[in-house]
Order: sequence, then structure tokens, then C-alpha cells
Amino acid sequence: MNNRVDLHSHSTVSDGSFPPETVVRKAKEAGLAGLALTDHDNIGGVEAALRAGEAHSLLVIPGVEISAEFDRGTCHILGYFFDPLDETLQKKLAYLQQARAERNPKIAKKLQDLGIDITYDEVRAIAGSDQVGRPHFARILMDKGIVRDFNEAFDRFLGKDKAAYVDKFRYRPEEAFEIIQAAGGVVVLAHPYTLNLSDEELTLLLRKWVDLGLRGMEVFYPDHTEEMIGRYSRIADSLNLIKTGGSDFHGNNKEGSVLGDCGPLGCPTIEVVERLRQV
Ligand code: AMP
Ligand code: ZN
Ligand code: FE
Ligand code: FE
Repeated sequence: MNNRVDLHSHSTVSDGSFPPETVVRKAKEAGLAGLALTDHDNIGGVEAALRAGEAHSLLVIPGVEISAEFDRGTCHILGYFFDPLDETLQKKLAYLQQARAERNPKIAKKLQDLGIDITYDEVRAIAGSDQVGRPHFARILMDKGIVRDFNEAFDRFLGKDKAAYVDKFRYRPEEAFEIIQAAGGVVVLAHPYTLNLSDEELTLLLRKWVDLGLRGMEVFYPDHTEEMIGRYSRIADSLNLIKTGGSDFHGNNKEGSVLGDCGPLGCPTIEVVERLRQV
């Protein structure tokens, strides 16, 4: 019997290509024992995912992935088991959604200035929800034959400091911790490799973050090699952090993301969910 859980997935509420109910159904079909929906800066899909979980007898965990400020690289903070009705959480996330809505037309404008035939309306049309993300721009650039794949879209245009990059407001990591905890949630660091730190630097930073409420780290992840998983496991164990994992499923909006594929050592087991729940 499969007792694996996937604790990182996206729906059309952010930049995934399937609605929350469909992501839940696919998780059930993939034989998973549990799923967390973790849309970027948005919990608008959580209620629908929870309902679909009941309909399909699948354990669904409320989640969110908050983009935080971090000079050296990309810092994404996962939150689980918060109260989806918490008004402060909703307000703080709405602020990020507004910052995103202000950024997106600027990306379209930069692409136009580079001579690319693209309108923001086209991007919005494929997003399938109110929230547009860079993968939607990447998708259009591919459909128009301007780039071959997602990597090229980010390498040439959309990645940090590339030709059509536009920054947006982010909370500091410490603020993201506070927002999640204040809503009763548990704080986990997503895909630690994107911080671009050495093991020593990461360990020092995590020690500080543990004091501020960090409780877990996403050790099992498709972009992590077995060797990386080994190193992150040792670091997590040394700090008593819960070792979580997920596929970062985006449907067709990210190359090679498959529900239930959390990298070379597989997804975490359902015991991890119980540990997170008990925090
Ligand atoms: P946004 O939140 O709109 O700034 O978009 C961030 C999302 O873009 C991430 O969650 C990834 O799904 C995707 N992304 C960021 N950088 C890359 C990259 N270099 N290659 C492919 N996808 C990326
Ligand atoms: Zn994404
Ligand atoms: Fe992420
Ligand atoms: Fe993600």
C-alpha cells in the first residue's frame, strides 16, 4: 500500500495548469496517501482542494508557498495547516497578489519593447485564473516559437535580472514565518538549493530561522540529486527539522513536473504529515 505524500503542488489558482479539484483527483489516481496544495502567495484553492479530498477520500493538507526576499537566490517559504479563514493571512497574501498584478503588465511591456509580439491580455487568457505568473509568460513565448522550452524562456527573458525581468514586493523570510504562524500554520523551507548557499552558510542561517519558528525543510525534491538529499537530510537532522518533500507539480506549466515524483529518493511518508500536524 502506498503511504507516500506529496507536499508541494500548484493549481490554476497560481501558475499550475489544473484546477485544485483536478490536482486532488490526479493525486488520488497517482496512488498518493496525501497531498498539499501550495499555490504561490494564494490560498484561494484550499477550500476546493479540501472538499475534493473528502470526495475522493484523500488526505488534503492546506498549504501555501510564499516568495520571500533573499539577495543570494530564491527563497520560498511553505506554510501548512494554517486556518484558511484567518483574516490577517488573507490580507497579507492579498498584498502580495496586488504586487504581482502590478508587476505582470510591466513584464509584458518589457517583452514588447524587445520586439516580441505579445499582449498582457493573451497571458491573462491562458492563466485560467486571476493570478498570472512567469510560467504563463514562458508558455506564450513557447507557443509563439520564440523559445524552445521553459528553461530558454527563463534564461533569456524571465529569470532574475534577464531581459524582461521585473522585481516585485516580497516579505522578508522572518515576516513570512510570522504570517504563517499567526494563522496557526507550520513553517517549512522549500527547495533549499535555490538559496545558493554553501552547507555551512545554510546551516548557520537555518539555526537562526529555527529560533524564529522554522520547523521543516523540503529535503525530497525533483531537482535534488541523491547526494544533495543526503546532505540536506544531515543538516535537517542536526537541527531537528522535519524532512518534508514534494513534486512542485505545475501540470503543463513546468517541464517534467509529475505528481508524486519528489526526486530520486521518492516522496516522504504520511508520518511526516503527523509530525507537521503536531507542531
Ligand atoms: P513568479 O512567482 O510569477 O515570479 O514565478 C515564479 C515561478 O516561475 C516559480 O515558482 C517557478 O515555477 C518558475 N520559475 C522560476 N525560475 C525558473 C527557471 N529558471 N526555470 C523554470 N521555471 C522557473
Ligand atoms: Zn510556480
Ligand atoms: Fe518554489
Ligand atoms: Fe512551487
